Parts: sequence; structure tokens; C-alpha cells
Amino acid sequence: MSNSSQENYSFLKGVGQNFDKAAGFTRFSAGILEQIKACNSILRVKFPVKIGDTVEVIEAYRVQHSHHKLPCKGGIRFSMEVDQEEVMALAALMTYKCAIVNVPFGGGKGGIKIDKSKYTEFELEKITRRYTSELVKKNFIGPGIDVPAPDYGTGAKEMSWILDTYSSLNPNDVNAQACVTGKPLSQGGVQGRTEATGLGVYFGIREVCSVREDMERLGLSVGIKGKRVIVQGLGNVGYHAAKFFQDAGAILVGLIEYEGAIYKEDGLNVDEVIAHRKSTGSILQYVGATDLANGADGLEQPCDILIPAALESVIHAGNADRIQAKIIGEAANGPLTPDADAILLKKGVWIVPDMYLNAGGVTVSYFEWLKNLSHVRYGRLEKRFSENMYAELVNIIESLTLKKVSELERKIILRGPDEIDLIYSGLEDTMIGSYQEIREVYVNTKGVDDLRTAAFICAINKVGAAYEQLGIFP
Ligand code: NAD
Repeated sequence: MSNSSQENYSFLKGVGQNFDKAAGFTRFSAGILEQIKACNSILRVKFPVKIGDTVEVIEAYRVQHSHHKLPCKGGIRFSMEVDQEEVMALAALMTYKCAIVNVPFGGGKGGIKIDKSKYTEFELEKITRRYTSELVKKNFIGPGIDVPAPDYGTGAKEMSWILDTYSSLNPNDVNAQACVTGKPLSQGGVQGRTEATGLGVYFGIREVCSVREDMERLGLSVGIKGKRVIVQGLGNVGYHAAKFFQDAGAILVGLIEYEGAIYKEDGLNVDEVIAHRKSTGSILQYVGATDLANGADGLEQPCDILIPAALESVIHAGNADRIQAKIIGEAANGPLTPDADAILLKKGVWIVPDMYLNAGGVTVSYFEWLKNLSHVRYGRLEKRFSENMYAELVNIIESLTLKKVSELERKIILRGPDEIDLIYSGLEDTMIGSYQEIREVYVNTKGVDDLRTAAFICAINKVGAAYEQLGIFP
């Protein structure tokens, strides 16, 4: 458990409580529900790595929560907070997340219990490669078995170490590139993966803000423009989400990192704040902004939309009552404890759950996996064909109307899709469609009073149906 002021809170139990609350609204028997909830396989390894002149024993995990669809899918995090329960909770969330966004994977998650800052890059590479060889030995990685991705504390670099280790141990696997996603482009990655989770957060909240009825109830206008936003965590997810909100005309009134928070009513520029942090080592003392030495206080400042994008349990019974946001977008996994959830729901806050909102990463990971299995870049086959067809159409329209489109219009109309266009459009469609599915369940299920329960119902219905169709061994 991380960052919670409630020492005894269990993230895993919290996920279980949310599941149970939703399960009562579904048609499945107790046995099927128990199977959906259970973690199918858990790997805990301890391995030695030579660090300088000493040998260090590293503790690591990989959890496959559900095998109802394969491969399992989920990130790998590097953090001192990693323990079996945390990884189990995160793996369970992945199962539900994949179901919600219609990505045909079971949930998985991995973690290495290390403080990244204590190791050189070479040492981190050794740890990552050794961890990967443990996964290979135990059959916990492979394009059709279990496919890791980046998470807290990891990125494209770690994924390419994983790919290289897996490939050298499986030289005959023609699909080896699909054993991990979030890779650099040169290693079979897909355009748009880096920003995918943050972009998905933006698309999701934009969809939330487009529903007039909900906005009226919250006392907000329709649309993103002019909305006051606070983002916690300026890592991969938080930075990109902040950037997309800013570019869409939202006002970033607050930014929070572990060294503190800054608040500025007329808006912060996220790139300038990052540059300031790079040169001074802190986001604090940014020109024109108010400093809050305790970062957590930043969560409680006035805003319309709060985006926690760091770690779990940052909003709990101890601070939930002081949150002023009308919409909370859970970009991080599990940023609210169930106690906080209850308090905020009572206050009428619209909580957009993690299982849906941060699913952009796994959605684009799915696209990357498909690209690796098909061994062809998106757009390669159809780009030129589309351009020729559009040119043909424009020529026909011009000859029928005896009017000419301008050169600029011609250039815009004739553009065939590149990989990035297809990825962004697939992600946008997924985030819009999935929100509508969840909201429909929320509106149409008597007794459901929050989006999280509605999202769990969607997930349980899909995973439960898959288990029924699979049949259970006699
Ligand atoms: P990251 O390591 O890139 O960034 C995390 C950021 O949070 C860092 O900048 C860190 O300094 C900051 N931070 C840590 N503790 C903080 C605190 N107490 N207050 C404020 N800031 C703090 O990680 P990430 O990949 O952006 O992941 C963030 C969250 O999003 C995690 O919960 C992760 O599970 C979830 N998530 C990530 C992805 C993905 O694609 N990366 C996908 C889905 C969910």
C-alpha cells in the first residue's frame, strides 16, 4: 500500500469490496463470481544480482489474475511499495479494465521491489534482465501467455531490455516482439504508446464533460474549455494528460509532485513547469504560483476536475471531505480508498473510475501487440490506396461542380492515414464507446449510484459470460 494516511487500508480488499458491491447487480452464481475474483496464478521470486562488490537479493512478482482470455496483460512497476497484495490488486484491475474497453486479454501485473534511484542504469538493466529470465523459466511471459508493459517507474527502455532477454532465450519465436508492449519504435513499438494513457484520460474526461445532463447537475458548463484542472504526478500519465487538457483550452490551476504543489488561478504551463523543475530540481517557486510545501494539500485546492496520476490511496477518509473538485478522474490506479469514495459520492462528486479512465495504455498496447503479430506497420497497406481514392473523388466533384478546391484543401482531403492517426482514432473511439457503455449501465440499473459500480458491472458481465462460454471442467 502506498501513500495512504490509513495504515491498515488494504488496496486488494478495496478492489474486492468494489467488486462485491457490483456483483449483486449481476446474474452470475456465487461460484462464477468467485472464479472471476480469484487470482489465477501468482509468481514470487527472489533472485541475486551483483551490485558493485556485493550481492543483493531482489524481490519481484508477476501475477496473472485471469486466464479467461490469453495472453494476460499488465504493466511492471519498480517501487519500494511493491508487495504481493498490491500486485494482486493491480492485476485484478487489469482484468476488469481490459473487459471494459473490449481488449481481449486477461489481467496481469508485475512488480520489482526496488528504489530505482539507488541503482545505476547498468544495474537496473541487470535486474530487469534477470527478472525477465525468471519469467521465461516459469512460463510467465510470451506473446500468447503474458505480455508486460510499462507502469510506475518503468518505460520504453526497460521494455526493450525485456524484449531482448526474451528473444535471446526464445530465438525461434517469430512473434517474440509481441512478448512485451510499450517498446521503443525501433524495437517494434507503436506510435502513440508513450502518451496513450494520458491521451485516454483526456478523451475520457472530454466525453464525461460532453454530457449536458451530468454537467448541469454538477453546475458545470459542457466541454473542456475553461475547466479548472489540478493534476497530481507529472510522470508519463500525468504529464501527457495535463498537456492534452492544456492544449484543449482547460486551465491547469494546480500541479503536484512529491516535493510539493503549486497553484495559480489563471493557469500554469505544464512544459514551463517541467523545464523549471529540471533546472531547479523542484516544481516549487515557480513564478507567479503559490507554493504548498505539503503536496497532498494541492489535492484540496479549488478546481473543477482533479486528476490524481501518481499512486494509489492518495485520497482517503482523512482528506476526502476537503476535496473541492466536482469531477475526479482516476488516472492512477486506485487513488481513492472505498471510504473516500463513499464520502465523495455523498458530496455529489462525479468519480470517473481508474478501470475505465486509464485504459488508454492497455488499449494502445493491444494495438501494438496486433502490429507485432501481423508484422506490418499500421497504414502501410492502405495509405496510398486511400489517397488515390480521395484524389479520384475530389476530381469527380470538381468536374461535376466546375469548381476547384484550394491547394490546402486538397492536401488535407487527400491525406491517407498514418500509424499515429489510426492509433489515436482507435483510442478515441474506445474511450467514447466504453464511457457510453458504463453510463448506460449507471442510468439503467436501479440502485447503482456511481460510475465505479457501473464499470464493475460491465466488466463482471463480460468476464462472467466468457467463463460460462469456456465451460467449467467437470
Ligand atoms: P511515472 O513513474 O511515469 O510517474 C509517476 C509520477 O508521480 C512521478 O513523476 C512521481 O515523481 C510522481 N509522484 C510520486 N509520488 C507522488 C506523490 N506523493 N505526490 C505527487 N506526485 C508523486 O508513472 P506513470 O506511468 O505515470 O503511472 C502513474 C499512475 O498511473 C500509476 O498508478 C500507474 O499504475 C497508473 N497507470 C499507468 C499507465 C501507463 O501507461 N504508464 C497505465 C495505466 C495506469
